[in-house]
Amino acid sequence: MSCHTAFGLLKQARESTGWAAFIWLAATAAAAGAGIWSTHFIAMLGYAPPLSIGYDVGLTLASLGVAIATAFGAAMVIRTASSSTAIVASGIILTSGIAAMHFTGMAGVRIPGRFVWDEALVAAALASGTVLTCAALFVFTRRPTRYPRAVAATLLAGAIGTLHFVSMAAARAVPDPSIAAPDDGLARGALAVGIAAVMLTILAFSALTLFADRLRRVNRALASHGAALRVSEERLARALDAGSDGLWDWNISTGQTWLSDRWLTMLGYEPGELEGHVRTWQRLVHPQDEAKALELLQAHFDGHSPVYEFEHRLRRKDGSWGWVLARGKVVERDNLDLPQRIVGTHIDIEGRKIAEQQIAHMARHDGLTGLTNRTSFHELLRLALREAADAGGACAVMCLDLDGFKMVNDTVGHMAGDELLKLVAARIAERIHPADTVARLGGDEFAVLVKSNPTNEGLGSLAKELISAVGEPFAYSGQTIEVGLSIGIARAPQDGLVEQLLFSRADLALYQAKAEGRNCYRIFDAALDEAITRRRELERDLRMVLANEGLELHYQPQVRASTRELVGFEALVRWRHPARGSIPPSEFIPLAEETGLISALGEWVLRTACSEAAGWARPLKVAVNLSPREFQQGDLPDLILGILTETGLSPNRLEIEITETAIFADMGRALSILRRLKALGISIAMDDFGTGYASLATLQAFPFDKIKIDRSFIGQVEVSPQAAVIVRAVLGLGRSLGICVAAEGVETIDQMRFLVDEECEELQGYLFGKPQPIGSFAEAIDGREAFEGAIAPAPVRSAAAQMAFAS
Ligand code: C2E
Ligand code: CA
Ligand code: CA
Repeated sequence: MSCHTAFGLLKQARESTGWAAFIWLAATAAAAGAGIWSTHFIAMLGYAPPLSIGYDVGLTLASLGVAIATAFGAAMVIRTASSSTAIVASGIILTSGIAAMHFTGMAGVRIPGRFVWDEALVAAALASGTVLTCAALFVFTRRPTRYPRAVAATLLAGAIGTLHFVSMAAARAVPDPSIAAPDDGLARGALAVGIAAVMLTILAFSALTLFADRLRRVNRALASHGAALRVSEERLARALDAGSDGLWDWNISTGQTWLSDRWLTMLGYEPGELEGHVRTWQRLVHPQDEAKALELLQAHFDGHSPVYEFEHRLRRKDGSWGWVLARGKVVERDNLDLPQRIVGTHIDIEGRKIAEQQIAHMARHDGLTGLTNRTSFHELLRLALREAADAGGACAVMCLDLDGFKMVNDTVGHMAGDELLKLVAARIAERIHPADTVARLGGDEFAVLVKSNPTNEGLGSLAKELISAVGEPFAYSGQTIEVGLSIGIARAPQDGLVEQLLFSRADLALYQAKAEGRNCYRIFDAALDEAITRRRELERDLRMVLANEGLELHYQPQVRASTRELVGFEALVRWRHPARGSIPPSEFIPLAEETGLISALGEWVLRTACSEAAGWARPLKVAVNLSPREFQQGDLPDLILGILTETGLSPNRLEIEITETAIFADMGRALSILRRLKALGISIAMDDFGTGYASLATLQAFPFDKIKIDRSFIGQVEVSPQAAVIVRAVLGLGRSLGICVAAEGVETIDQMRFLVDEECEELQGYLFGKPQPIGSFAEAIDGREAFEGAIAPAPVRSAAAQMAFAS
């Protein structure tokens, strides 16, 4: 028990400083020393040597002093240190203290004889005592177990016991008659009283450590509780300081209210301006919120809801409405459990409410025009269709698309584009019935949900009105801007009752309106559906084929008429569709032009033809067709130059074929492009001459190198005198202007004869070869063999003619 107490006191000493530490150390020493001493003397009480025994008072007390002093030293060493050195040092001090106490005590024993010691046993006692003491101190300082104090105390008690009892075993009392029997020393009874006193002291110390421990714990708990209280007080003060919440306190039985300054200023009133009565509050609540507020208050009063909580409007001093979040809780009830007093807060949620409303509006409207947006348009359409299905009503969807909007955006600028969209939106909104809805779906796409009069007549007249309204010119910063409008219409229930289907059908009708020249409207027609779908699929496939390089080029030979010698090829594009077989260019070139895919297609053809031709052994020419749309692109000369550089084809081997249409779109521009191309060394051929305007002025004004007489004339030269006259005239014109004339579509020997006789310079047609992959002309290109187009079996009119030609 004394060891346990001593360690408890030592723990206190370790946790204190200054004088307190000194006092705890002294107590530790006293407890430990007393324990060591009493162990010795309790054992001595049980020691019954065959001689009478007495104790010397001085030495007995000295032995207690020695025990206490050495324990003090040992405790001091271990108080602040836990190192192994400190443990061993402290252990040795303590062990020697125990030993010193023991032998001092033994020296104080008075017997009629002497003690004789077995030295080996004494050494063993010292050694085992030291080991056990060090172990005790190690356990106490390093805490390797859950109960370090108890284990250390047990070990130390073991050390003390071992030292005493092994030493006693080493002692043998040898009677010596020369020494008188003790009678003047301490009697056994006195020693027993002394031991009891020491033991009580130890008990007292033990109680003291226990008490100190408790005290410390209570103190610690008190300190943390105090801190928590401070924090919560501080929080409240801060909350009131920050003043974002208004506070209110309502005495329900008297109707008196207290409103904090913030409550009042939140609504624009001066502090103390309003009467402190619940009527004041009731007057300020928005009429639409009052009933609900009273209902919620009652529910809280009746205990149905733990708090009163409501977002509502209150009248500000300036008469406007402000949003608050009110919260309250009954804090007093009478003995009948009726509420007496309720207190609560007001939080200003104006900003949040405004944001919420804005977000709600933004989610449903288009930011630019303020019209309904796509999402909510589809929602409205779904509703209208459900109505139509349930009540047998009707409605229609109009899909609107501006014609030429992109041009405005690109040429006048995006600001103008935005202004234009706003104006268009306003014009459409002005003309529709209040029951109808107009929405902007994105870009220059609009839609109208027609519920007012969805008959064919009604829809037609509305569509016409919208087209003419949008078609009126706009003034924008001094400029006049004009756009067109195309409309596609689908009706419910006849064209569909499912939102997606109806919408896609209106879109198909729009597509058709666009294909049919724009600035018009079309109502969905099931018969047209298929044709348009096919076209759309084709368009989709064309995009894919362009991306995947699924096109190929065929080459048709062009020969010198006089010698039938090969001079070049015309490159003609081919599309092998996996499902539809070979699609003729007459079908997909116009499609590519409409969809804008033509630029990618044309670039591909140019690049492919040039790189192919660059690899030919003979410097034959290659002619490439350019569609009017491609020709209008301003960067065409740069593009071609780039391709020539890239492929290494000499410019004078490239020929561009264009039709008159390409030139008439914008003469000035066309002229400048042609001049730039010619300056590069590229030659220009006028294709399909005779089918268009066939204007002589064009021929004179533009720097053509070649005229290609259209195959429709060549096919007629033998049967139609007019065709022959025209061909002759063109040939004469070419000669007088110094321009080479070529004939295309030469199929028979008679046609060839005629052309040779009329001094046509170049010929092209099935008679000399059909357009084919370049591989079919490998020998002719290499120059290994003469071109045999002139004798190729061609569809000729008569055997005689064939003979004549062969000869
Ligand atoms: P085009 O420029 O007048 O091309 C000549 C067309 O006449 C070719 O039709 C060719 O196969 C055909 N042809 C050639 N010799 C004879 C003949 O002896 N008799 C008959 N009846 N026809 C003959 P294709 O290849 O179907 O091309 C049609 C049109 O497609 C071309 O007319 C051209 O305007 C356009 N085209 C073809 N390839 C391209 C291209 O790569 N780019 C552009 N922009 N247009 C192209
Ligand atoms: Ca051509
Ligand atoms: Ca042609």
